[in-house]
Amino acid sequence: MKVEILRYNDVWFDNGLIVFSNILDEIEEEYELSENSLTPLQLNYEYGDEEKFTKNLSIHIKGLIQNIIIDTEDKVTKERKQVKKDFVLIQEKKKIGGKVAFKENIFSEDKTDSVIQEVFTNLKGDKKKCFLCGRSFKSNYKNLQQASYPFVTKIRSLSGIRSGEDLKLSEYIKDYCPQCYLLGVLAWVDSTLIYRTIPGHKSILILPNMEDLTMLKKLKQSYLNQLNNNNRYGNIRIDIDKRETENTPDKYSTLVSFYENFIRYTEPNLNCQNWYIIEIPLSGSVKNPKYFNVFFDNRIVNVLTKLIRKDDPMLFYRGFIKETYFFNNDTKKGLRNFDYEKILQEGFCQSFINDDFSKFARYFLPLQGGHIGLTKHARQILDKLIYEWRIKPMNKLSEEDVKTLQLAGLTIANLSENHVSLFYKLEKAKNPHDFYKAMQEITRRFVIDETKRNVYPGSISNVMDLVVTNQDDPKAFEDIKNILLIYASIKGYKKTEKKEANNE
Ligand SMILES: [Zn+2]
Repeated sequence: MKVEILRYNDVWFDNGLIVFSNILDEIEEEYELSENSLTPLQLNYEYGDEEKFTKNLSIHIKGLIQNIIIDTEDKVTKERKQVKKDFVLIQEKKKIGGKVAFKENIFSEDKTDSVIQEVFTNLKGDKKKCFLCGRSFKSNYKNLQQASYPFVTKIRSLSGIRSGEDLKLSEYIKDYCPQCYLLGVLAWVDSTLIYRTIPGHKSILILPNMEDLTMLKKLKQSYLNQLNNNNRYGNIRIDIDKRETENTPDKYSTLVSFYENFIRYTEPNLNCQNWYIIEIPLSGSVKNPKYFNVFFDNRIVNVLTKLIRKDDPMLFYRGFIKETYFFNNDTKKGLRNFDYEKILQEGFCQSFINDDFSKFARYFLPLQGGHIGLTKHARQILDKLIYEWRIKPMNKLSEEDVKTLQLAGLTIANLSENHVSLFYKLEKAKNPHDFYKAMQEITRRFVIDETKRNVYPGSISNVMDLVVTNQDDPKAFEDIKNILLIYASIKGYKKTEKKEANNE
């Protein structure tokens, strides 16, 4: 019997397969890894030395259990105790002496040996055929359950199920081989699983999605030093040599904060643009995870790379996102609106990943009761970001034009202060004609209130010239409008804001 494990084309199992190959490395079991398969060469477990193989395997699996357990202090008794990491969808038994006990026997240290033996005994034979990987086997170790595949509730969409075979779901789940079980359950204890838990709400997992197993293995190894697995609520390091971890507000900000360090510190030839986000709810008896496939377009990777300059990095997440605040106009409500800041951070990250500049610009707009504020550093990064992301690829605006937009933005901000609706009229302008009408309404305020400072009427007519020049290019028009909206909304940073903001 030849044991060749083929690539699953399923992110969960393929990541589990790499965890398995890492264990084979540890126990010095030779294997061949190619783009599409993993083939153990010596097959100790086939030729006599099965006991040695399974023993070694279980020792290393036991060692990996620590990846899903955190040592912590009981808030009430102050005693040391263990907790299971929140994202793990493996059920727990009652703790014994403060130690986590899993219902899945493979992660129950005194039973790992016997589970592994059973797994390999059950593989030998050809009574059944696995619905997922196609291999023949004697009998299953377990049916397909969430413990080895979190998406079990969505199993119909699996590529392994051939259409036309009209079996009931329950039949498929029974024809699930011990190899798939093992790889699926190992994916949980992967030390390169990227995670973030928002307490009381949800956990977010991030996995790389790669079509070449050899690249996937190298890639996963490459970012291990960017993670800090001893932390319960997240493992993305603020910086490679810091133990602190990022407290990202939601899934896209989590991905961006990871990806920024990834581009910064991983060999460029190991680039991975395709990532998989899994969202696991923390409440409810049935935990239905959602998944999102995210692809970083070349344009976005280029912008991020341009911002990460070696000597003086201007980081999108660690600079711009983390130093952009939302201030309440009425400071009796507190200086900053932290809830809305989280929405902003997530919105900026999502629209940036999706290369959606209009949506990105909309997040800057003032709301009733509050406005955005940036530190000087964040403002510099924003200028650079707008330049690399929109102005340079557009290839239509000179340096002078950009200054015009900034001055006009400041002018609009000062003229329309306390008139938020004017911003939204400008934002809704779908063509140069509407744009002109909205600008007229704003400039009328100049006549009404001549005491306004920092108003440059010339810049407004210059912007109108810019719009007229580019009126036949709808994309350029949209970009010019959105850049203007951003500059009008941020109004220039206030020097005091960073100081105040740091005093939360
Ligand atoms: Zn299988």
